[in-house]
Amino acid sequence: MMRSVGIDIGGTLIKAGVVGEDGEILVRAEIGTDVAGGIDAIESSVRQVVDGLGDIEDARNIGIGSPGAIDRERGLVRQSPNIPCWSDYPAAERLSGLLGRNVAIDNDANCAALAEGRYGAARDVASFLLVTLGTGVGGGVVLGGRVWHGDSGRGGEVGHVVVDPRGRECGCGGRGCLETVSSATAILATASRQGLTGDVQSLAVRARLGGGAERALFDQAGRGLGIAVTAWLNILDVHTIVIGGGVSAALDLIEPALRREIASRVYALDPGAIRILHASLGPDAGFVGASLLEPPP
Ligand SMILES: [Zn+2]
Repeated sequence: MMRSVGIDIGGTLIKAGVVGEDGEILVRAEIGTDVAGGIDAIESSVRQVVDGLGDIEDARNIGIGSPGAIDRERGLVRQSPNIPCWSDYPAAERLSGLLGRNVAIDNDANCAALAEGRYGAARDVASFLLVTLGTGVGGGVVLGGRVWHGDSGRGGEVGHVVVDPRGRECGCGGRGCLETVSSATAILATASRQGLTGDVQSLAVRARLGGGAERALFDQAGRGLGIAVTAWLNILDVHTIVIGGGVSAALDLIEPALRREIASRVYALDPGAIRILHASLGPDAGFVGASLLEPPP
């Protein structure tokens, strides 16, 4: 059976798996990301997590998903807010040397989009937008079955679409990006300013039990998301949105405001035609998608 290896390098965890040709996860491993330890520590963790997969000699490919802006042609991580030491980091060269064979690299959200399109929520959908609402907000655009990378590889960065021009400063240097409104970090920051405690899951539980202040947090996140995705729906005329990331566990709370916002903004399309799907591969999507990257020549 054809097997491939995917590695998802996140700001908190490095996850890896051996994935079979039908998307089944045959072996998995994970390890914490020692961001403070710098490049050496992260490279040694990658080595360790791959060792944890056992014998991968016969694997078709090793693919890597990394957060941040990726120059795929040069195999370079140009800038990665969650792993600051990877600034202009020659990931493909370094990790190919480390693992003893050529690796392919792409943005982590693009990998997740690949996986959801092949094996997950969007497996029968040719074109869709993936939005991952986690610590930050990532995105991937799949058009006609292929991930759209754009002219310089930055395609799909829906997290930095401005939804509130006078809003909060964003880690990217801009202001009022979707990430400052609808990420878990943004939801928790707003909650804490209002004296509400707990993580996103417990806030969601209280919202479902009728907590008005908690419900308003998710309304706000849904509104921001609606403004951002409608811009994309109007440009691309894609009708399917897949929502993943930790906050998507509260999709039931976000969806009403998201749908209201789309309905009030979408141009020349019945808003009922827009499908909103919950990503189905969960935290595995990144490494499963990385395993689908084409091996470099
Ligand atoms: Zn931004």
